[in-house]
Amino acid sequence: MDFEFSEEQRMLRESVRKMMAKSATPEYIRRLDHEQAFPDELYAEWVKMGLFRMPFPEEYGGLGGSVIDMVIIAEELSYKSFDLFSAFGSPIFCGLNVLRKGTEEQKRHWLPKLLSGEVKFSVSMSEPEAGCDIGAMRTSARRDGDGWVINGQKLWATGAGAKNNVINVYVKTDTKAHYRQGMSLFLVDNNAPGVQLRKLDMLGRRCTGTYEIFLNDVRVPHERLIGGENNGWQVVLSGLQVERITSTSGYIGGMQAILDLALQYAKDRKQFGRPIGSNQVIAHMLADMQTELEASRLMMWRAAWMLATGKDALKEISMAKVFASETYVKLANMGMQILGAYGYNMEFDMQRYFRDARSTTIGAGTSQMQRNLIAGLMGLKVQP
Ligand SMILES: Cc1cc2nc3c(=O)[nH]c(=O)nc-3n(C[C@H](O)[C@H](O)[C@H](O)COP(=O)(O)OP(=O)(O)OC[C@H]3O[C@@H](n4cnc5c(N)ncnc54)[C@H](O)[C@@H]3O)c2cc1C
Repeated sequence: MDFEFSEEQRMLRESVRKMMAKSATPEYIRRLDHEQAFPDELYAEWVKMGLFRMPFPEEYGGLGGSVIDMVIIAEELSYKSFDLFSAFGSPIFCGLNVLRKGTEEQKRHWLPKLLSGEVKFSVSMSEPEAGCDIGAMRTSARRDGDGWVINGQKLWATGAGAKNNVINVYVKTDTKAHYRQGMSLFLVDNNAPGVQLRKLDMLGRRCTGTYEIFLNDVRVPHERLIGGENNGWQVVLSGLQVERITSTSGYIGGMQAILDLALQYAKDRKQFGRPIGSNQVIAHMLADMQTELEASRLMMWRAAWMLATGKDALKEISMAKVFASETYVKLANMGMQILGAYGYNMEFDMQRYFRDARSTTIGAGTSQMQRNLIAGLMGLKVQP
């Protein structure tokens, strides 16, 4: 067993940490959160540093990194803000789908644009009636000449309103078939005729933003169909494990920040003439937080290692995701308790970690759906 990082991985962590310390200052993050503004300047920094190039092969302008590099980056970005990590994650996950399922022409067209920051990607699958139940999807595309026409409504699309965003929209192309055989992926510009966006007022992740999307007779050329007609579910499946493990690493980064804030506060804050951390009950809360964070981190690293070494890690990734996201919520709650009223005040950062953490047992597959999946992989027959 080897828990050591390579020299390159240590350097990657160090350089991402340094860049984030310089560019994602607490004042910058507070302003973006308050104004609900997309982190355009920081995104440009990530492009300049080559972070978007990391998991892509050199032939498309990438650096040929592994999933381990991805989880290192995710942990460091989320340490500052899971909201900021969301602005990074969606474009990468969608880009990897194009890499795995696009034609050679589509890869040569889209990947250099994504890696250079010319376009961003977001993913849009959920709908008002279709959350966990993807089969209830109503948005559809019909053939029209040498292209397609899309009609419908989407919900909860992270980052879809960012400048130059190309929405990766999943729609039904065979309305009679099961979604596994009747769904397709199209790339749609967020300012294409017939596309209308509404930014939603969410509890957290307020700078990357969450959007409702209306699609009215949106014309899409055939070249924007990725993975072939009715193969959308195959595209989703191909990226599920990388997306979930990288997001899980993001939860770990957020948890570490919460623990660091709470620990420092427990040492500094004096009541009854002594630091509050000298009360055994507070010290034990912090010891539990450290222990549960470490357990989450180990589950995440083991699953990431399995994936990086070509093993099927679906169960391990789902277990890591459900455990880490629920621990993230728990730690944010404990962190807020340790900071007392300062934790609940909008001028201090704990409330932002609390708000962002709360989304993680819902997004990227709810805790309940993860448990359904894990139980299914244990041989149990769970509905659906
Ligand atoms: C911050 C945020 C960002 C998001 N970003 C995106 C995005 O970029 N793109 C996108 O497409 N979607 C996105 N989503 C949507 C997300 O994928 C959905 O919220 C999720 O799939 C759940 O759907 P729902 O909210 O409609 O809940 P529902 O499906 O209505 O479920 C409600 C509750 O019932 C439970 N439940 C439902 N069915 C079952 C079952 N069979 N067994 C047990 N429990 C069940 C759920 O776990 C949940 O607790 C985002 C959501 C959030 C909160």
